[in-house]
Amino acid sequence: MVLLDIFDPKAPPRPIGIDLGTTNSIVAHMRDERPVALTTCDGTALLPSVVYYGDHGNVLVGASAKSYASLHPERTLASVKRFMGRGADDLETTRLAAHRLAPATTPDEAKVVRFDVGGRTVTPVEVSAEILKSLKQSALDQLGTVGGAVITVPAYFDDAQRQATKDAGRLAGLEVLRLLNEPTAAALAYGLDKRQNGLFAVYDLGGGTFDITLLRLEDGVFQVKSTGGDSALGGDDMDRRIAEEMLDAMGASEAAARTPEIVALVLGAARSAKHGLTDALEVTVELPKRGGGTIVYGIRRPHFDELIEPLLERTGRACRRALRDAGMEPSELDGVILVGGSTRVPRVRSFVEETFGKVPLADIDPDLVVAYGAAVQAQLLADSSDEVLLLDVLPLSLGVETMGGGVDKVLPRNTTIPAGARSTFTTYADNQTGFEIHVVQGERELAKDCRSLARFTLKGIPPMPAGMARLEITFHVDENNLLKIEAKELTTGVCQEIEVKPSYGLTDDQVEAMLLDALDHGEEDFEARRLADAKVEGSRMALATQKALAADADLLSADERARVEAALSELRRAVQGATHVGSVQRCIDALDDATHEWAGRRMNRAIQSAIGGRSVEAIGESVAHARGVEAHLLEHGALPVKES
Ligand code: ADP
Ligand code: MG
Repeated sequence: MVLLDIFDPKAPPRPIGIDLGTTNSIVAHMRDERPVALTTCDGTALLPSVVYYGDHGNVLVGASAKSYASLHPERTLASVKRFMGRGADDLETTRLAAHRLAPATTPDEAKVVRFDVGGRTVTPVEVSAEILKSLKQSALDQLGTVGGAVITVPAYFDDAQRQATKDAGRLAGLEVLRLLNEPTAAALAYGLDKRQNGLFAVYDLGGGTFDITLLRLEDGVFQVKSTGGDSALGGDDMDRRIAEEMLDAMGASEAAARTPEIVALVLGAARSAKHGLTDALEVTVELPKRGGGTIVYGIRRPHFDELIEPLLERTGRACRRALRDAGMEPSELDGVILVGGSTRVPRVRSFVEETFGKVPLADIDPDLVVAYGAAVQAQLLADSSDEVLLLDVLPLSLGVETMGGGVDKVLPRNTTIPAGARSTFTTYADNQTGFEIHVVQGERELAKDCRSLARFTLKGIPPMPAGMARLEITFHVDENNLLKIEAKELTTGVCQEIEVKPSYGLTDDQVEAMLLDALDHGEEDFEARRLADAKVEGSRMALATQKALAADADLLSADERARVEAALSELRRAVQGATHVGSVQRCIDALDDATHEWAGRRMNRAIQSAIGGRSVEAIGESVAHARGVEAHLLEHGALPVKES
């Protein structure tokens, strides 16, 4: 029995948490056991969830994209989260929104919302991916490496919306470890999971959406008891209330005066005024007047509170409904958490207190609290692996290296254990008396990129022509996570067995890192594997042709022989040095072509000689000696070749 020591892990990539918001997005990570927001490309923690598509294929994200909203409203996309996982049919028309929808020309296209951005069509998933890409880049710049990501979604997101969010993550090159409900993330950020049990309300008023969620914590696990809200209610509505007043004051009451450019400008001014009112009791703004000149618009906090009261009432109704749905009284709540930039508004805070009869938790920045919780969760996922994994499924595939450096996956990842599987191989060279068996673990296509678990040699196979020996490798993983490998040469019964303790000792984040790695390299791996396989096929064919030349060259005319030899040396060169599978394949085809007729003649001769009493083995043996197959293959054994 061989127990192998485990290789040193490479430094694990850093997990990140992402709040992919309707209005703003944030990326955070854990530093010294505390969540910290990373600086985005805008130089702030908050990245506006806005994407601008320029006319030369250039894409801008964040504040720079937002600055185009008034100049090129049709090329600037905001609030696309509303469209995630939605079909063109189930759209609510978004008031005062500038984006244009691309008409669907096929039923398939109608299944997804598509935006027309200056002649180019993009889907919400693609737009979200641009935002995620930007956040990932910021994280990379600051952390060096980025591991998996936890991305948050509203608790009410359905399967299609969640899938769309995952797709956006993948499209951005992120390994999405998990989607996490936003309210749960907020509760995690407050460390509420450290309590044993509790009942919490999460009041999330963002830019364009309001969500109320009632969570029950039971033995450290959060359960959504009920959700409610309004997908068209948020800080933007407050902006609109102020903007209406501003437009009136500017003399732009009628629709004709409200061009997208003016609307975008006034909405921006209204938002600044609203933000100002969070800290000050009064704010004044200078605005252009219709027909020239400027006006000064002033607003005081009590008036603003009045303007937004109907909006708050709507949130109150949703809260009461959610309580009713969960069968709970406000008095039963252990805490109320404020989430979303709009809960900064003083009147919102007092309103929540009135509604639930409780002073809400608001110590953590309501803009960042969801991203913080995502970072906490991402780190938890990475850490839960410090101990040895006790899994009932294989975390990574187990396989055998084959000739050429590829991997034959005997037991694929996620197989439930205990499990067993076998795979059959054959010899590469004539008279090969041993197999070198290399057991690897991982998802990559080439053995050198996987983790090496064991190497052993199966010896004592009698000399046979290439392809005659039959090596059967059986993997068995028992309930104790022990991997037992049996290698048996079937024609002779020569057999060897070893035991390995595989992954076990690999931490979750190492497993994730390996999966991420496989994902990152998927395409190049596939190419490398095809090249490696083509080279093996090429060299087997070259050996076979060499063998045939030694035995049956007399069946060729001088011209034919020259052609075969030229094609053979071309193929050898390709096997040695080619970097593209195509060039190896072309040489294989050329040699196949050159030897085609000759093969027919050889077949006839073989049949005749068989009738004449010579055995195929005898031919093989004499040819091998004549040619002198690489001596080390005979002595040490070669990697197995997958039997097709
Ligand atoms: P989302 O979850 O939709 O991405 P956020 O949680 O980032 O939204 O909230 C954005 C909203 O918060 C915007 O309407 C913004 O105007 C509002 N907001 C941000 N800061 C303040 C502030 N200081 N006072 C009032 N509203 C604010
Ligand atoms: Mg939010």
